[in-house]
Amino acid sequence: MAYEVIARKWRPQTFESVVGQEHVVRTMRNAIESGRIAQAYLLCGPRGTGKTTLARIFAKSLNCKYGPTVTPCCKCDNCTEIERGSSLDVVEIDGASNNSVDDVHEKILNSVNFMPASGKFRIFYIDEVHMLSAAAFNALLKTLEEPPPHVKFIFATTEPDKVIGTIVSRCQRFDLRRLTISEIAGQLRKISESEGIEISDDAVFALARMADGGMRDAESALDQIISFTGSKIAEEDVLGVFGLVSRDTIEKLAESILRGDIVSILGYIRDLDNSGKDLRRLAIELIEHFRNVLVCIHLGGDSPSFIDIAQNRRETIKNQAAIAGAAAVLSVMEQLIELENRLRLSLSPRTLTETVLIRCAKSASGLVDLEEILKRLNELSTSISCESAESSGTAPVPRPEEAAVTLPTEPNTIKEQTGDFQDNGIEDDDGSADAPDSDYVNDYESEDENADPDCKTSGIAVPETVPPVRFRPNSEIIHEPSVEKAVKMLNGKIIDITHPR
Ligand SMILES: [Zn+2]
Repeated sequence: MAYEVIARKWRPQTFESVVGQEHVVRTMRNAIESGRIAQAYLLCGPRGTGKTTLARIFAKSLNCKYGPTVTPCCKCDNCTEIERGSSLDVVEIDGASNNSVDDVHEKILNSVNFMPASGKFRIFYIDEVHMLSAAAFNALLKTLEEPPPHVKFIFATTEPDKVIGTIVSRCQRFDLRRLTISEIAGQLRKISESEGIEISDDAVFALARMADGGMRDAESALDQIISFTGSKIAEEDVLGVFGLVSRDTIEKLAESILRGDIVSILGYIRDLDNSGKDLRRLAIELIEHFRNVLVCIHLGGDSPSFIDIAQNRRETIKNQAAIAGAAAVLSVMEQLIELENRLRLSLSPRTLTETVLIRCAKSASGLVDLEEILKRLNELSTSISCESAESSGTAPVPRPEEAAVTLPTEPNTIKEQTGDFQDNGIEDDDGSADAPDSDYVNDYESEDENADPDCKTSGIAVPETVPPVRFRPNSEIIHEPSVEKAVKMLNGKIIDITHPR
């Protein structure tokens, strides 16, 4: 028997064997079972997601010798002819090459009144229907609205926006979705087992990731890799043939970014570039990886419905979620998305990738989570109130909003973070102990903005009972311009912070 490619050999024959697309399958089955079969259906979706497959199963369901039935026998002449694409009653038309008015007349309108040869319906299936010319669409309109009872239309398109509204409104529309990596991986595993192919989990997931939601792409890739390696497939084979980056490398590179390890990042990029890897593909995989880390930060590690990766990779995602803040990961993702866009046109992808990943590393390792900033500022504001009450004896406890906080101008002048604000607990840049409270007040009141750029304040009045406090967060916080926002969000607990930027 002639060799048949996997994508054709494993094309689902019944509704039960269709992977994903449950919403479409269910509606089609219900329509057949209840006898409410529309005159026209429009299947929309990216390539390889099952449009032709569903159209053929639907046609078999209607024309099977035992039909209409939701479980066509797949053995009778009608079923086998439809599967081979040779049924006289099911006319498959390629809209891209038969797009003129003449084509529509010749292939459809002239024969629409003929009774079916052996089935119960004549079914016209037009693939890539958006390619029909406007005149061809118009020629079809009248028949589409009121076809003879034995005629059904099924249209398929990858670009539903290009199908004119008058056609869409006469159809029941189904939107097929991209398949998840797990769905594709599951099907590839099933095929491999049946074909006697030994394939590792990582190799299956590499193929599934590459397919971008299309089952046919994944099956074609599996065919190709079998031709290359034979019956035993490892991840390295898949990566080598398709120019992909291994999961290990992605994970280690991501960790280097989160830890700000620039030397290691440059090493990875050099190795990947020298071995001819596609750096844009690298950016896409990194985005996907950090997306998983971000989901893990918010939902925890055990969210299989949100994180679509092999089981043995979940631990790494959890570990990286533990060392990274959501703000840092978001910032990295934004820069990577921009990198992926720019790599399409870049003449020096390696330099661009190096530049952006270094920037990612700097921002990731230098960012503190907004929630953390708010927490620290809240603690600070409480400590101000307590200290004031203690130092002023009978003086009333000042409201938190009466405190003033001053931020230093230059982050690099900060030597250490001072978490608690004891009277004498804060050191100046030169390491000397702070002056008593009264001096602070005096300093504050007499301060010229130009005199001490480290301690600028605006002119909002501060009650005498409240000593202005030097807020000395670590330099990481100062890197982040959203400190200003964080302070504003405190809603008056601190009345003023002059941020130098
Ligand atoms: Zn049949």
